[in-house]
Amino acid sequence: MTMLHNTTKRFPRVAPILLVAFGAVACSDETGSITDPGELGNITLDVRVHLLESDQFAALDATLTDSDVAVLFEGVNEIWSQAGITWRVESVVREPSLDGTSFIAALNGVIPVTGSVLASILPSDNLLAGRWNVFVIRDFGNFAGGVYLDFRGAVIFAENGPIGPQDPTSDGRRILAHELGHSLSLFHVPCTSAGNLMAPGCPAQDRTRLEPGQITPARAQAQRGRPFGI
Ligand SMILES: [Zn+2]
Repeated sequence: MTMLHNTTKRFPRVAPILLVAFGAVACSDETGSITDPGELGNITLDVRVHLLESDQFAALDATLTDSDVAVLFEGVNEIWSQAGITWRVESVVREPSLDGTSFIAALNGVIPVTGSVLASILPSDNLLAGRWNVFVIRDFGNFAGGVYLDFRGAVIFAENGPIGPQDPTSDGRRILAHELGHSLSLFHVPCTSAGNLMAPGCPAQDRTRLEPGQITPARAQAQRGRPFGI
């Protein structure tokens, strides 16, 4: 089973994520009302946030503060409350990115964007092993708002993407919540009137909702206690 569907040889692992990016361009930045989780028992998932630093590449030098991270996850948790899932920031780590030469070359179109190139900047010295790790960079350019690398179980979230700033109080929360949805085994879905969290490319929609058919598998993955793919 793989969530990396409809891929090309050139972009074996990032094609779905590209869709996210382009979807984000067209979508509303509002977060919406959340359905009552009802009788769902809450599941809490630890996540470590890695704020990457780089002297060489500004795009890899995150600027978020601990307070920004807290605000960001407050919004993410508002969205995920409809599934009875809470993300708990276990810690915030500041650490240098690995060599960003290939990563930046890929964003600039010099070399193909592949999962391995995207992962090449991610340090592994301070991972929350077997759990969720979110790496923050400053700017993904026109590439994407964020990515989920299933072979690493890691999210890369960018402070700026195709839509511009992905503010922790607005677009950022929705984009990160979407990527975490992938980490809970969710695929993309088509645009619907409900404004689904996992639907990229939907114009003027508030995309924060999850359907029961998504909540069930997401909770099942959450109960396993580890990100999808690892
Ligand atoms: Zn996506």
